[in-house]
Amino acid sequence: MPHASLPALEVRGLTKVYDDGTHALNDLSFTVPDGGFHGLLGPNGSGKSTLIGIITGLVRGPAGHVKVFGHDAVSDHRLARTMVGLAPQEVHLDRFLTAREVLSFHGRYFGMAKADANERADELLVAFDLESKSGSRPNRLSGGMRRRLLIARALVHRPRLAILDEPTAGVDLELRHDLWKYLSALHQQERTTILLTTHYLEEAEALCDNSAMIRDGRIIAEGTVPELMARFGGARLEDAYLAAMQEDRGQTP
Ligand code: ADP
Repeated sequence: MPHASLPALEVRGLTKVYDDGTHALNDLSFTVPDGGFHGLLGPNGSGKSTLIGIITGLVRGPAGHVKVFGHDAVSDHRLARTMVGLAPQEVHLDRFLTAREVLSFHGRYFGMAKADANERADELLVAFDLESKSGSRPNRLSGGMRRRLLIARALVHRPRLAILDEPTAGVDLELRHDLWKYLSALHQQERTTILLTTHYLEEAEALCDNSAMIRDGRIIAEGTVPELMARFGGARLEDAYLAAMQEDRGQTP
């Protein structure tokens, strides 16, 4: 492994001011180690989408540094992008494509040879229990299946870092637990580094080995669940999260 010692993601002093003057990120720094399962937790408007947009080259013009396995994601976003797989928040799937085509076309988009893209599509259909739906169009899939397909699509080009943006938002409890099973397997079997955003604190508690809390475009706390609970108190990550947010609110005008 040529980059075994490099972090999957290294963000240093990242600041993003939108054209209308909104400071979305304020000197934000954090690191996701290679092989980590990292949570990014914060309220709406705290800067999560902006950060993800910068990492994936969709939001331009930040100040600061973002490195994906040592590659500068700001100046060379195309190269960094090939190392990142993004499962976006909204379920946008081409309704004219079959599940298998959704996956294989995505691979082709990332420059994979046809045979390789097809093979990878089949592999992921099996891994996400979508094999029997390979020829179905997205509107014939259940909500849970569509979520799984969206996550599988992010992985087609074998990214070393997968960013899952609220992968279980609005999904019922049973389906959410079901999705967790797939996410754990993905992390363990494919050795993919994962950055996960979620508003379900128990999700981060169940899956992540480290969580970063973001507020007003800054990381206000970071650590394992026991570390965060020891620092902020409480019996659940949710308690620590609320205490951390409150503490930060008290410190900033
Ligand atoms: P989150 O994903 O945590 O909800 P965002 O990154 O979407 O946070 O937003 C961070 C801040 O930047 C918010 O104040 C939001 O209103 C603002 N913002 C997001 N996108 C834009 C944009 N394109 N132009 C101006 N402001 C934006």
